[in-house]
Amino acid sequence: MQHLPPETLALCALGEAEPGDTAHLADCAECAAEVTALRRVVTAGRNAGESEGLPRPPSSVWDSIHARLGLSDAVRADPFDAVDTPPAAVDAPSPAQRVSPAGSSPVPLEDARKRRARRRLPQVLGAAAAAVVLAAAGVWGISRILADRSEVIAAVELAPLPAYSDTGRAEVDQRSDGGRELVVTASGSGARGFREVWLIAPDVQRMVSLGTMEGTEGRFTIPANLDLDEYPIVDISDEPFDGNPTHSGDSILRGVLDP
Ligand SMILES: [Zn+2]
Repeated sequence: MQHLPPETLALCALGEAEPGDTAHLADCAECAAEVTALRRVVTAGRNAGESEGLPRPPSSVWDSIHARLGLSDAVRADPFDAVDTPPAAVDAPSPAQRVSPAGSSPVPLEDARKRRARRRLPQVLGAAAAAVVLAAAGVWGISRILADRSEVIAAVELAPLPAYSDTGRAEVDQRSDGGRELVVTASGSGARGFREVWLIAPDVQRMVSLGTMEGTEGRFTIPANLDLDEYPIVDISDEPFDGNPTHSGDSILRGVLDP
């Protein structure tokens, strides 16, 4: 049995089936399923039309859809190109038609239908592309929301002090709520005691402890009023379990934040 071509399936989904098409759909479960699926896309596409300001998908999206569905050359052009072009230019009568006494020459019905089909198809497929883009935008939006929660405002590679060979890095993240975090990563350490993370002034006398570090990554809240210009040195020290809260003087890694 000869199945309906994709263009006809699309027209059927739009409610423009011809009697012959309807008869085939009644007998062919395969084509009927295609039309049902397309109809869902048309519905989604029409509803999507109400929301404006969506980014236009790159033409490569259409190229993929076109190739995947094995569509004809007639619809090879990105349907969004047609959206961007003023539609009047497509349907304007040629000068010859305009001066003819009858206004315009009659067009055979079959030709008119084909022309309409050619015009409508990009809309259907545009709706399909819009539905794909909407789904992608949803996923993209969620990941952006998660990623946008903080922004790196300063970073420095941490260098080991002479007795050590550790490597590390410190980043200052500005959170969307206005708070700041120092994110420290450091290779596993041979610290004899525990590791403590500090912000230190250039005079190396004034310093603020942010907390102890476990594992290879730690996140530390930077006190709201602490001026990083005043305490730009990030320092990880090896602290003995001696009950003394001051810096042991035994630094493992150090770097100066570049504001
Ligand atoms: Zn069929």
